[in-house]
Parts: sequence; C-alpha cells; structure tokens
Amino acid sequence: MAEQGEDVEIAIEGLYPGLIKQMTRNFREIMGKEGSRQALVREVDVLYRSSVEDFAKAEAEAGRLACGAGCSACCSQRVELLESEVPDVLRAINRLGGSVRKQVLKRLRRQARLEIATPDPEQYRVPCSLLDEAGRCLIYAARPTACRKAISSNATHCQAPGTVLFDENPSLVAASLFSTALEFARTAVLLQGSLPRPLAGALLEVMK
Ligand code: SF4
Repeated sequence: MAEQGEDVEIAIEGLYPGLIKQMTRNFREIMGKEGSRQALVREVDVLYRSSVEDFAKAEAEAGRLACGAGCSACCSQRVELLESEVPDVLRAINRLGGSVRKQVLKRLRRQARLEIATPDPEQYRVPCSLLDEAGRCLIYAARPTACRKAISSNATHCQAPGTVLFDENPSLVAASLFSTALEFARTAVLLQGSLPRPLAGALLEVMK
C-alpha cells in the first residue's frame, strides 16, 4: 500500500508540481484554526471544491477529458451532497420556475426512496432527478463537488459505478486518488458529523 501511495504521490507531483505540499499546508492551517464549526466546514468545502475544479481545468486544458455538454453518462451514480452545498443547490432549484421545480420535486421523492432502498453505491443506478429530457443538468453551475470530480477520458467508463478509478488515463486515476485523499482529510476535519448525504434525501429535508 505504501508503495502504491508513493507512486500516486510521484505521479501527482509530476502533473501538478507543489500542489500536494500546498494542499497539506492549507488543510493544516484550517485544522489549526479556532472558529465556529460551520465556518470551518465552509472553508474546508471551498478548498476541497476548488482543488477538484483545478484538476478538471488542468485535464480539460491538456485535452484529456471526454466530458462535455449533454453527456450525462455518470449522472445515474449515487451522488452525495456536502452540508455546505445544500443551500446553493436549493437556490438553483428554486430558480427553475414553478412547473420544472414541481417535476424535480416529484422525481426527488422517488429518488430518495431508491437511495434508501439501494445503499450500496456499486448497485445504485438511478438517473438523477436534476437531469432534463435532453440529459443536461438543470443546475449545472451549482452542481455538487461529487459531480465536479467525476471527470473522465472515456464516457463508456462512466456508465459503471466507480468511474474514474477505472479510467485508462493514468493522470486521471492519480487526480482521482488525490481528490479521494482530500475527501478523507475533509472527513477528518468534520469528525463531529456533517458527512456528505445522498442528494435526494438531503434536498427533500429542506424543500417544501
Ligand atoms: S446534480 Fe447534475 S451533474 Fe450531478 S448527477 Fe445530478 S444531473 Fe448530473
């Protein structure tokens, strides 16, 4: 395991020089801070999200991404929302307008039941309630970090749970493992709770 971890670290260092040290410093700084739990959670989530976005941007610039408008190949996998993402996603849903919002709410109710009935992410295959008929995300600009980090160089891999780890592109595998490591760091900061929750269940709790 240690050897594999070292390999990934070397690969990431080659792709994104200095990033690991910078991220480690950022996390240590946040973990050492005093402040309300909510403010710290927000800060860690922003950092986590921006690191995921940096990866996606770098991969897109290098021409290694298959992801694009209208591709929803990964949108049937189980998605979890960070606590601090719920208000942004909710605002985006509320902006959709009456009838679309109503349809989304109906789909979310069904999805929430399926999230409970299928807790194993490997078994879960349910089209997200936030897709429109053309397979586009209705809240794309506000989509959760879990969706932002589903980057791939081969859309056929995205049909299966576990997407990016099975990608044939080694840099995406390294990026994905690093983002998983960040997720663990995030969880460590949030030991007192606030773990990500299944999308539909989390949204229904705050929607009327
Ligand atoms: S929130 Fe948007 S990007 Fe994420 S799974 Fe749902 S439709 Fe896809």
